[in-house]
Amino acid sequence: MEEHQGSLDQRAQQAAKIIQNPASYKVCMGCDSIVASRVTLCPNCHGYRFEDDRNHVVSQARELGSREQHSVIASDLD
Ligand SMILES: [Zn+2]
Repeated sequence: MEEHQGSLDQRAQQAAKIIQNPASYKVCMGCDSIVASRVTLCPNCHGYRFEDDRNHVVSQARELGSREQHSVIASDLD
């Protein structure tokens, strides 16, 4: 349990950052990962279709921040 706690905290912090500034991010339509808006190819599934609607980014960030799942928040990858 405890080793998962850290990654959940990190995830929540990352999600909070995204919610503050959703315009800098977008959501991969292939795997629901959140990536930086400048990314052209998803680092997780190599998809190239993204949803950049701010409301969509914010709701996805809330979901990823509140529970663990396989999708990654890859916003800090260049
Ligand atoms: Zn993806």
